[in-house]
Amino acid sequence: MKVVLQNLTKIFPGKSKKEADQVVAVNDFSFEIPDGKLVGLLGPSGCGKSTMLNMISGLQKPTSGHIYFGDDEVTYVEPEHRGVGLVFQNYALYPHLNVKQNIMFPLQNLKGKNKLSKEEMEKRVTEAARFVQIDSLLDRKPAEMSGGQQQRVAIARALVKMPGVLLLDEPLSNLDARLRLQTREEIRRIQKETKITTIFVTHDQEEAMSISDMIVVMKQGTLQQIGKPQDVYDDPVNLFVAKFLGTPPINVFEGKAENGKIYIGNDNVLYAPEVRDGEVYVGIRPEGFIPDPEGPLCCRLINIEVMGRDMSVISANNSAVSETVRSIINSDAGIDTDSEFIRFSVKPHKIFVFDKETEERLY
Ligand code: ATP
Repeated sequence: MKVVLQNLTKIFPGKSKKEADQVVAVNDFSFEIPDGKLVGLLGPSGCGKSTMLNMISGLQKPTSGHIYFGDDEVTYVEPEHRGVGLVFQNYALYPHLNVKQNIMFPLQNLKGKNKLSKEEMEKRVTEAARFVQIDSLLDRKPAEMSGGQQQRVAIARALVKMPGVLLLDEPLSNLDARLRLQTREEIRRIQKETKITTIFVTHDQEEAMSISDMIVVMKQGTLQQIGKPQDVYDDPVNLFVAKFLGTPPINVFEGKAENGKIYIGNDNVLYAPEVRDGEVYVGIRPEGFIPDPEGPLCCRLINIEVMGRDMSVISANNSAVSETVRSIINSDAGIDTDSEFIRFSVKPHKIFVFDKETEERLY
């Protein structure tokens, strides 16, 4: 089922009636999630991700705008009639119920024509439990399971209703690093097999990029960019998006454009005739540096960390916005570790130029 958001806005009134006290949590947000896709909704804390999800699930009503599931408008439909499955960060399982009872719970509440027979409920619970691979744990209580297992129960509980849309709000936040990795692969597998249109909220860009068909980047309630993860990484619309995606993060320098040339300090790192003269930010991805004695960019060499196949070269440059410049270089590259300076040439598709004022991308 496709999900369409049209000019969605949510304003929380402040304590006083003053406009300055209001919080615009989601601001005129429009996008379409194609049927059967997994979309990662990504942005820093407080940017409005949960508010967005709550409006899609029906837990909160928008101040204005429209939500469609398929061709049906659901903007003011009550949550229980929307056919959404919800999974939150804290699995919120009932502690006194065992796994089977927890998964079955939403089915027991179905009324009228949706009411299921006991056999049908049992069948659905068994299927959902098998799907998330906890069918051997049906008699356990939540306290007797690991965090990852509890989160699988929460996912099974959301799936058992056969939702048209699955909403996951930071579902991996409470898991340790290894379980996070495992569970996110699991979520991807489940989503691909069920083909349920899924929205996955996270502030972790790596998590979003690794499992999403599309990512939606938000900042302060506004949409910044939508696209396939690799496309957004390779082609960010502004400095915020460029900085938000990638580990290690993009290196940002203060620079200037002059007669079609881009300078970092006095180093001419790029020809970009389309960029007008003026001050700019220059962003270079860590993998965009090539050690080159003839290269245009000169940095002070600080340290080299060998990481097997690659090495991380840490250097400094007076124009860099952060204290250090981090580049990822193939370990085969011969670097004189005793040298005080290191020169780089830059891969043209790994360097971006941004307007200093608007931070929009110019190159
Ligand atoms: P996090 O990643 O920290 O969970 P988020 O991106 O999910 O953050 P939201 O919880 O949607 O962000 O909050 C967006 C903005 O709306 C924040 O500034 C928040 O303080 C504000 N906000 C959220 N709920 C309410 C509320 N009920 N009343 C007033 N302001 C609210």
